[in-house]
Amino acid sequence: MESMKSDLQTRGSGGREGTPSHKRMFLFQFRPYRCPFRQPLRTHHGLWSVREGILIRLTHLDTGLDGYGEIAPIPWFGSETLAEALQFCQQLTSSISEAQILAIPEELSACRFGLESAWLACQETHFFHADLSHLSFCYLLGADAGSLPPYPRVYKRKIGVAPIEQEWAEIKLLLEQLPRGSRLRLDANGGLTLAEAKQWLANCDALNRDLPGTVEWIEQPLPPTQHSYLFQLSQTYQTPIALDESVAQLQQLQQLHRSGWRGILVVKPALMGSCLALQDYLEQQHPPLDVVFSSALETPIGAWQGMVWAGSLQPKTAYPRAVGWGVGQCFSGWDPVRLVTASPAERAALMQKVWQTWS
Ligand SMILES: [Mg+2]
Repeated sequence: MESMKSDLQTRGSGGREGTPSHKRMFLFQFRPYRCPFRQPLRTHHGLWSVREGILIRLTHLDTGLDGYGEIAPIPWFGSETLAEALQFCQQLTSSISEAQILAIPEELSACRFGLESAWLACQETHFFHADLSHLSFCYLLGADAGSLPPYPRVYKRKIGVAPIEQEWAEIKLLLEQLPRGSRLRLDANGGLTLAEAKQWLANCDALNRDLPGTVEWIEQPLPPTQHSYLFQLSQTYQTPIALDESVAQLQQLQQLHRSGWRGILVVKPALMGSCLALQDYLEQQHPPLDVVFSSALETPIGAWQGMVWAGSLQPKTAYPRAVGWGVGQCFSGWDPVRLVTASPAERAALMQKVWQTWS
């Protein structure tokens, strides 16, 4: 398993010698899917009830190996729309080249992730063996603590949905229910006013003075357009700010980093675009970026692809922060966290089952 772990430290570097890339061909198939969440997710952008996306299967025409991928756009996060992704898939022919996959434009970031990851999976014969036991998880909470796993103790809660006094009271109550020493990530999805953001940060600073580290960060308090205020807030308050919507795609992450932002960056691999390019960028940064990897609420196909990337890229970041795939409560009958302890055969069977469900 150790050798598999080190193989994954740099992805995309093996198995590509020999045939020139424009001649390496793959059978391309795609299947739109529509999965209702077990409970709608309430964020500042409203209720999200159904996850819609596109499953991808590439078959390497030389080796016969299949690789699955997933296009899981979130347009209100800045990715392409599902209609744009469908249009892109429909104009591709049934056999496509490696060069075509690597030329998918940055604007189609979810398409690029889906096809690039399926293409890599076609070549990594041990893809389902990836050892992700070094990852720890952050669990998304509903309105109340519900039936929580007692450990690990990192949780995320959405804010900016109800009045601040009500949400703050709920959080204080929640902290009484959570295991001692739990940490909270509070995600506003860009939905606070500047005054509300200041109040939340002041509240969290006071709480963290009494119980250090209880609020790990406030995530995207203001929309991405208010970058200068986000920057000011990060320098005024002790509670860290993490940016998510501001860095949905790789180009935005690079721009923000070059602008001098040194705070936490949330990376959803499914929306990022080319994770090979992300890998190159992270490898070049000294000191390393403070990046945390997170779910885009994908099916098991996209979740496994994203988590494999998280597992291989985390050693290139500043801290091994808990990853955001603790979202099992959103789905009926499966949980991304359980993919880590499943056997390679079980993972492969689950991916095939998801594909067949929508075929
Ligand atoms: Mg977020």
